Amino acid sequence: MADIYAYITHTGGVAGDSSLEMVNTAKKIDAGAAVTAIVTGSGADVDKVADEAAASYAKVLKFNTDALAYPNAEVVRKLLINVLPKNAIILIPHDTFGMDLSPGLSIKLDSAFVADVVGIEEVDGTSMKVIRQEYSGMVSTHVTVDISNGAVVNVRPGAFIPDESKSVGGTVEDKSGDAGDLSVNRTFLELVEAEVGDVDITKEDVLVSVGRGIEDEDNLEIADDLAKAMGAVVSCSRPIVDAKWLEKSRQVGTSGQTVKPKVYLACGISGSFQHMGGIKGAPFIVAINKNVKAPIFQVAEVGIEADILDFLPELTEAIEGL
Ligand SMILES: Cc1cc2nc3c(=O)[nH]c(=O)nc-3n(C[C@H](O)[C@H](O)[C@H](O)COP(=O)(O)OP(=O)(O)OC[C@H]3O[C@@H](n4cnc5c(N)ncnc54)[C@H](O)[C@@H]3O)c2cc1C
Repeated sequence: MADIYAYITHTGGVAGDSSLEMVNTAKKIDAGAAVTAIVTGSGADVDKVADEAAASYAKVLKFNTDALAYPNAEVVRKLLINVLPKNAIILIPHDTFGMDLSPGLSIKLDSAFVADVVGIEEVDGTSMKVIRQEYSGMVSTHVTVDISNGAVVNVRPGAFIPDESKSVGGTVEDKSGDAGDLSVNRTFLELVEAEVGDVDITKEDVLVSVGRGIEDEDNLEIADDLAKAMGAVVSCSRPIVDAKWLEKSRQVGTSGQTVKPKVYLACGISGSFQHMGGIKGAPFIVAINKNVKAPIFQVAEVGIEADILDFLPELTEAIEGL
């Protein structure tokens, strides 16, 4: 079996949730593999993330250099091309950065590429059968990947259970001197912080989230009423922001905010991976949707088949009566 690597993303000295999830992805590929994590960046944050990753990975390769200070996929791609051995399997989170980094990487490594993997079925020395989702999760596709020349595997955040055991006790090797030539054509200019808006949905315990099923801007009032009754705030899916019915700061998802509530009410939201990618920390999800086949029901603890325009006011009334 090929050597398995995992690329660890991090912000502010904290590794992304995918860091622990990819431990289990790797186990699905090869239960006994000694997996190597790769941590890149500049400064003390990199040292911290690398040391923490060693609790979960057998080996951590740390690249701490100024050229890697900012998340520039072109630089990281060049680094990985320089350091990965032939025929390696590399796991990379399927987020905006991973999507930028991975296809070009697979071409340069002359290895297979498979995006947005949510499951691994069977693996032998030369092939791997994986599960992907299409059409916003309405159908699953099962794909066989030829891994004889290695593979770049983009792993959907949240699809694998995080391995919290942190019992590996691996080693950290500082490979900064071996990064090689990292000159690229894309130059980092500036970081623009996302606007916070009137409420910060990333700090809320209970979110009443509305999607296209709300149908009209005027109907947002019923979500507001429910949120008030529950001591929650209203968040939303992207079409609501695109329609300018709510501020961008209320949008949950890969191109919006990442939220970690305890309870998440998804009202008229289908459950696209871009939306679900913004929900972390395994909240208790209650989905209300009039289409029983909506993908959101696959991840909800409680699924209610109902028209939200009728159901939300009834729920508000019931909660207010308690
Ligand atoms: C690069 C990229 C980034 C993206 N980033 C994000 C992101 O950050 N966040 C995000 O949310 N999306 C994002 N999207 C869009 C995403 O792909 C989906 O289109 C979007 O999440 C769908 O939103 P929705 O579930 O509200 O709408 P739909 O998918 O249209 O679903 C509406 C749901 O409401 C139900 N419904 C309709 N009427 C009612 C009713 N009266 N009562 C009950 N149920 C009803 C329907 O059955 C359906 O399931 C992104 C897309 C791209 C390409």
